[in-house]
Amino acid sequence: MKGWGNPSRKRAKGRDRELEKKQVAKHKILDYMLEQRSTTKAELAKKLNLSMPTVLSNISELTEKGLVVEAGEMESTGGRKARKISLREDHCFAVGVDITAHHLGMVLLNLGGGIAAWQRVRLVFQPDAAYCRQMAELVRSFYQDKAAEEKILGIGVSFPGILNKSERILVKSHALKLENYSLKMMEQMLGLPVYFENDANAAMLAENPKKIRDAVYLSLNHTLGGAVCIDGRLFSGQGQKAGEFGHMLLVPGGKQCYCGKYGCADAYCAASVLTEDGAYGVDAFMGRLGKDEEADQKWEEYLENLAALISNLRMAFDTDVILGGDVGGYLGEYMVELGEKVQKNNLFDLDVGYLKNCSYQREASAVGVAKYFFQGFLERF
Ligand SMILES: [Zn+2]
Repeated sequence: MKGWGNPSRKRAKGRDRELEKKQVAKHKILDYMLEQRSTTKAELAKKLNLSMPTVLSNISELTEKGLVVEAGEMESTGGRKARKISLREDHCFAVGVDITAHHLGMVLLNLGGGIAAWQRVRLVFQPDAAYCRQMAELVRSFYQDKAAEEKILGIGVSFPGILNKSERILVKSHALKLENYSLKMMEQMLGLPVYFENDANAAMLAENPKKIRDAVYLSLNHTLGGAVCIDGRLFSGQGQKAGEFGHMLLVPGGKQCYCGKYGCADAYCAASVLTEDGAYGVDAFMGRLGKDEEADQKWEEYLENLAALISNLRMAFDTDVILGGDVGGYLGEYMVELGEKVQKNNLFDLDVGYLKNCSYQREASAVGVAKYFFQGFLERF
C-alpha cells in the first residue's frame, strides 16, 4: 500500500520551493532595475511576467533593506499616477579605471549606473612599482572625497591588451609594449577588490550584454580594439584574442601598423590616424572639419576605411556593430554618410539598421569594468 508521506516534511519542501521561487523573482527584479534606472511595480510585473503580489512582497523587502527607493511619479495617462521606483543610487559605488599608454581615465559609478564623477589625467605607463604606486594614489584621491570607502565595492581596471584574468597576467599589449606582465602588485596597491578586463571587452560590458545578446563592438580609440558578444556573453576565443579587429588585414601591403605588420585595420581606422599619433586630441581634429580641407579629406578617407572594416565585420558575424571609443563618440552626426559608404560594400543587407552608437560616449571601458561589481553585489540579496 502506498503511504501518504510525512505531511510536515511535505510542507517544508513546499516552503523551500516557495523561497527559491521568491529568490529567482527577486534577482529578476534587481537585474531589471540595474539596467532600467527607474521603473514601476506594474511594469516589473508585466515585463518580468511576475504576479503583482510577488512584485509587491519583493519590493517591500528591498525597500526595507534600503536598496530600493521611490523616485517620483510617472506622467499621468488619465488615471492615478504610478509611483516610480529605482535602486538607491548612493547605496554603493564602483570605480572604473582605464589604463592607456599615456593616460588614466577614471569614473565613479553609482548603483543606478550613473557617472557620479569622472577624470582623465596624463600618466605615462611604466611597467614598474613607481607607476603602480602613483596610479593607486591617483585613483584613491579621485574617489576619496566623493564616496566613503566602505561604500565602494571594488575597482575595475581595463587595459589595451590580452589578459589572463585568473592568473592576473597581462599576456600581451602592443600599445603598452608589454608581454607577460604580472598585475598582482597593482592589485595589492589598489587595496580594494580588483577586476581586470581588456578595454574593448570592458566597453562592451558597459552596453549590457544580456540586453544586446549578439553584437560586435568596435572601439575606435588611440589604438583600435574590439569585442564580441554572443548570446549575452563576451566571447574570448581560444587564445583570449577574439575581437582583435585592429590587426585584421585591411589593405595588403599597406601602411605599417604599430604591431609591425603592414596594412592592419589599426593603421587606417584607429583614432591615432586622425590625431597625428596622439599629437592632439580627437576633439581638436573634429573641430577642424568644415574649415580645413586637409582635415576634411582625411576624414573622408577615414570613413571609407572604417566602412570597409564594418562591412567585413557584418559579413563575419551578421550581428549589430556598435561603434565606440574616442571617435565613436563623434560618429552620431556622421551616421548617414558612414551608412552610405558601408551599404556600398554590402549586397546582403537592405539597410544599415545594425550600425549602433555606443551608450557611453565618455570612458566606456572604465564604466564597463566598474559595472562588473554591481552584478555580484545584487546577487547577494
Ligand atoms: Zn597590427
